[in-house]
Amino acid sequence: MNVIAINFAYIISASLFIFGLKMLSSPATARRGNFLSATGMLLAIIVTLANQGLDYKWIAAGVAIGTVIGLFAAYRVQMTSMPEMVALFNGFGGIASLLLAWGEYHQHPELTAFIAIVTFLSAFIGGITFSGSMIAFGKLSEIMPSKAIVFNGQHIINAIILLTAVASAAIFAINPADSYAIFLLIVVVALIFGVTSVIPIGGADMPVVISLLNSYSGLAACAAGFVISNNILIVAGALVGASGIILTNIMCKAMNRSLTNVLFSGFGATTQAAGTGPQGEVRPANAEDVYYILEAADSVAFVPGYGLAVAQAQHVVQELGELLEENGTEVSYAIHPVAGRMPGHMNVLLAEANVPYDQLVEMDDINPRMDSVDVCVVIGANDVVNPAALDEETSPIYGMPIIETHRAKTVIVLKRSMNPGFAGIQNALFFYPNTRMYFGDAKASIQALVAEFKGD
Ligand code: NDP
Repeated sequence: MNVIAINFAYIISASLFIFGLKMLSSPATARRGNFLSATGMLLAIIVTLANQGLDYKWIAAGVAIGTVIGLFAAYRVQMTSMPEMVALFNGFGGIASLLLAWGEYHQHPELTAFIAIVTFLSAFIGGITFSGSMIAFGKLSEIMPSKAIVFNGQHIINAIILLTAVASAAIFAINPADSYAIFLLIVVVALIFGVTSVIPIGGADMPVVISLLNSYSGLAACAAGFVISNNILIVAGALVGASGIILTNIMCKAMNRSLTNVLFSGFGATTQAAGTGPQGEVRPANAEDVYYILEAADSVAFVPGYGLAVAQAQHVVQELGELLEENGTEVSYAIHPVAGRMPGHMNVLLAEANVPYDQLVEMDDINPRMDSVDVCVVIGANDVVNPAALDEETSPIYGMPIIETHRAKTVIVLKRSMNPGFAGIQNALFFYPNTRMYFGDAKASIQALVAEFKGD
């Protein structure tokens, strides 16, 4: 294929990526968006494979191995393990950029200063992404301790590593042909830096880190695109880099924390001691009590959280929602941007259970009309409904926007115990006079409600 035809096809691919990304911003169009972007990628791959001088047997081997791993992972992975899988795949993106830069440099060590710099960036950012993602994967899957690992002089060690990288990059860019050992040093330093920069971050903050590493993998791919003068790799890498950083920013804002706080504070490493924090009388309810409350309600808002994902309760919640609607109740699902453990976690779960998109309501839309909601059913959510975020200045979550369920006429909280959530703090909502605690596994509890409605 000639260069003009290839670049024309790449422009079409890039447009498909951009439209696809845009469509991912709404659950109603997300599937089509994903399909569009995948089509763009397929086109880019086909056109790239039509290039001259490729060794197809290695490519075929790579495709076969990748397909088997991808299929296996897609079928086997649990919804609650999705962040781990994303971490692993991000890491693979990073190592691919590193190896590409290394391979190119190994074959053609005579580089211009510009190509030397992008080779450095591709290897360095790719290396950080790989080892950082492996640590994130280890923490999320609890292969290694998920707590923040902090030690004296950590920041100094990181600063020394960074300075070594900058100095090595300078030497490498000045004389790449004679700097093979320096390049290897850059690779080692990058791998070490990925580890040392992710271990001080608590396991529960990993989704933010993963989204940041996702952005890095895009930047590494973008640099790799410059190394081999491949326009679509440059564009796709830039899109991943930009969207990853935007997502990181959205998550930090929704938690009212700065990125620096997420990366350096060791948040979530400590749990409030039992007996501290808000205290008071808890009003437990059983399935029958909750049934009568729901049956009499004109409007019910479900507020899903991490516990819904753990219990895999999305399908029974959808069934309960349908029964309520048949009963003449207005049903909605109030979604907090960081409910769960990964961006869009609740949207994905509820979409999987075929909850109608128009029943999903964002936090900023439900809060102004919360006073008129008859019943809020909080399902395995804790921090995202904790009123301490609004009025307790000393609380670690102070300032985080919450779904203000406490303002509804009645609140029913489904969880298994009085244990705290991710932030490790007790929740005053559980002691409010309009709150009833319905203890138990979320799926079993909702199944019991469904049975009550069906008169089983
Ligand atoms: P939380 O972690 O605050 O609370 C989850 C609750 O679910 C727990 O209190 C737990 O209580 C309950 N639970 C667990 N398993 C079950 C079960 N099987 N049945 C019923 N209940 C169960 O989750 P939220 O969704 O409210 O908040 C998310 C937190 O994660 C926020 O602090 C957010 O900042 C943080 N976070 C989110 C990210 C994201 O991208 N979404 C990224 C990084 C952090 P019990 O043990 O008593 O059952």
